[in-house]
Amino acid sequence: MPDLLPCPFCGSRSAEIAFAGAKRFACCRYCSAGMPPRETEAEAVQMWNTRTDLARAQALAALEKARLGFLNLIDYGGLDQARHGETLAIAGELDQAIAAMKGGGK
Ligand SMILES: [Zn+2]
Repeated sequence: MPDLLPCPFCGSRSAEIAFAGAKRFACCRYCSAGMPPRETEAEAVQMWNTRTDLARAQALAALEKARLGFLNLIDYGGLDQARHGETLAIAGELDQAIAAMKGGGK
């Protein structure tokens, strides 16, 4: 079995393969971070060892969702007009965070 890389969330080397019914999943014994169950142990290991990309993709999706929700709030007048400049600045910061993540920077 290939080695499991350190946990992407807490950095500990206490990751292990656990059972979920007939499936297997990798998880961290220290902080309980875990990956979705896979059919085989090899798949579970691979998923854990490429989790940095997965974590990034999930963070990016969350940011984009937050940005969209925020812009909808502005559009529907859910935010005080007097604070319009402030809300646009926050939208700009979200844009920058998304661009930074898309730009890579491993
Ligand atoms: Zn951990």
